[in-house]
Amino acid sequence: MSLCSVRRLSVGYGDFKVLFDIDLDIDEGQAMAMIGANGAGKTTLLRAITGLLKAPDDSIKFAGRPIAGTPPHAIVALGVAMVPEGRCLFPSLSVEENLLVGAHAKRRGPWTLQRVYDLFPALLQRRRAPVELLSGGQQQMVAIGRALMSNPRLLLCDEVSLGLAPIVIKSIYCAFPAILAEGTTILVVEQDIGRAIAMADTVTCLQEGKVTLAGPPKQFSRADITAAYFGR
Ligand code: ATP
Repeated sequence: MSLCSVRRLSVGYGDFKVLFDIDLDIDEGQAMAMIGANGAGKTTLLRAITGLLKAPDDSIKFAGRPIAGTPPHAIVALGVAMVPEGRCLFPSLSVEENLLVGAHAKRRGPWTLQRVYDLFPALLQRRRAPVELLSGGQQQMVAIGRALMSNPRLLLCDEVSLGLAPIVIKSIYCAFPAILAEGTTILVVEQDIGRAIAMADTVTCLQEGKVTLAGPPKQFSRADITAAYFGR
């Protein structure tokens, strides 16, 4: 069942159009990987879903309810959380303070400070430390944990592996099965095609603001995916 559906979504920044007639369904309980080259419009799509960018009426539904035009804080209250590219943490606040920023009074669910520390044990040891003293990988864990603290039904992760060492990326991707097991749906923006295919139930490719491929990765050959990604 589709938890989030996008229909004929066209948005941009002023006169600069970025997305053209996007159709997309994110199914409940599944992991979707969104791939696409720099500038394809992946972040713009996440911004539209989270209400940070105004989308046309009726272009986005979440849990059957139209959400375009709804302010971002109200979309969080409905159960959508984003891990933004670059993490956007509060550098001088501690790990625990950053996590608590994500907690949402109106949303109950499995994710508590303790559950986040169970998921990322390295954070428990550093919980009183300012996040600016943490490694990039640990900071990414804080950003994911902060989003989970709102007990989202849909977790949107933008480029969580950017700039991190392969072993660190692995430890972050290891957390996704546990998050899915709690019933949280995941959309991960990922530039690495191999990593995207390995983690996802469905893969969606954007190229120059259009969906060029969507479906379970097994449906596609490597050549299909490369063509959808690079346009060759
Ligand atoms: P990346 O991997 O580089 O983040 P992306 O697929 O996420 O790529 P977007 O960040 O959505 O792409 O950007 C799509 C296009 O929109 C790019 O041409 C970008 O320069 C432009 N763009 C992004 N943000 C803005 C903005 N605030 N104002 C104007 N143009 C923007």
